[in-house]
Amino acid sequence: MKTEEVKKLDKKYVIHTYKRIPLVLVKGKGTKVWDSEGKEYLDFVAGIAVNGLGHCHPKVVKAIQEQVAQLIHISNLYYIEPQVKLAKLVADNSFGNKSFFCNSGAEANEAAIKLSRKYGKGKRYEIICMEGSFHGRTLATLTATGQEKYRKGYAPLAPGFKIVPFNDLEKAAEAINDRTVAVMLEPIQGEGGINVAGDKYLKGIRRLCDENDLLLILDEIQCGMGRTGKLFSYKHYGIEPDIMTLAKSLGGGFPIGAMIAKERIASHFSPGDHASTFGGNPLACSAACAAIEAILEEKLIENAAQVGNYFIEKLKELKKKYSFIKDVRGKGLMIGVELDFEGKDIVSKCQEKGILINCTVDRVLRFVPPLIVTREEVDQVVTTLDKIFKNKK
Ligand SMILES: *Cc1c(COP(=O)(O)O)cnc(C)c1O
Repeated sequence: MKTEEVKKLDKKYVIHTYKRIPLVLVKGKGTKVWDSEGKEYLDFVAGIAVNGLGHCHPKVVKAIQEQVAQLIHISNLYYIEPQVKLAKLVADNSFGNKSFFCNSGAEANEAAIKLSRKYGKGKRYEIICMEGSFHGRTLATLTATGQEKYRKGYAPLAPGFKIVPFNDLEKAAEAINDRTVAVMLEPIQGEGGINVAGDKYLKGIRRLCDENDLLLILDEIQCGMGRTGKLFSYKHYGIEPDIMTLAKSLGGGFPIGAMIAKERIASHFSPGDHASTFGGNPLACSAACAAIEAILEEKLIENAAQVGNYFIEKLKELKKKYSFIKDVRGKGLMIGVELDFEGKDIVSKCQEKGILINCTVDRVLRFVPPLIVTREEVDQVVTTLDKIFKNKK
């Protein structure tokens, strides 16, 4: 199909919930994608941190191809071999020894919210969430989301959530009452503009949770899976959560979500308490097993840390040159550049020059490239930005 035809059909038949960039992407390999006219792009959006291994990673492709010919779906009424393999792989590499699988980030957070309420035994149910957070688009997860734009028009929202300022330990402590059961946050806020939780802050939140018997729920849907230079971001802080949610990169591009919990918390769910028809299906779990193995075997966490540091250094050099750059922040390959003007023009100029980047909260350029990215590719992006910024002055 021609680009114009796809655009026309989209307009006519697809519900208009997305403001699309006028590009039809039809093929991907590694850090590159191609549009329907054959133009090549270096992809620093990576499906918003979904294609952590790059596009069509050979191990993930092989795992999916083998599984798809063997068994695509089977009900959770039965045991599922790829599901137990994935659960063990997660347990071997994280704090959490028990997993529940679903199909998206919002569903993973829903599961975390429901498990917390079970833990609260009907007496405690309130969850403290953060300003600037993003936890998904279902009614409960958007109520947990501390950004007005996602909630507007959906009242009445779900009860039981309290939003406090991010990185403010005192405000979190003040929000605790008899009904509080959990604190939920992203170690690095993604949609909120790449805001990194401070070291003292997250340790302090852990302490608050311990002192008040609250569950610490870390949403690592965007910042997990090696992106920040550790397999999971909590590992930067020397603490462990009670519950962690994953999705985005977990399946190497294939849709899957997971809620991971410590055994003593997970045991508050009994058979029948929660379920998902597609959750933990053989195909998704095979893809996710291959993705985790590839991340570990190919030393992609180390690459994310090294190339990420290099990228941040280079961007900080740009900040010295251009006073309109307010801040450069992030960890590993989850990086934000805050501008003092709206970033959408920069995004489209990059696109003209064959580079896909993204902008969040209007003014923060967001870089979440695949973990396989090289220094040379980072140089290409930084040089292009430098040229675009020079014309902006
Ligand atoms: C993307 C995202 C979600 C929602 O995931 P979906 O798969 O779109 O439901 C939740 N939390 C964070 C931190 C995210 O980045």
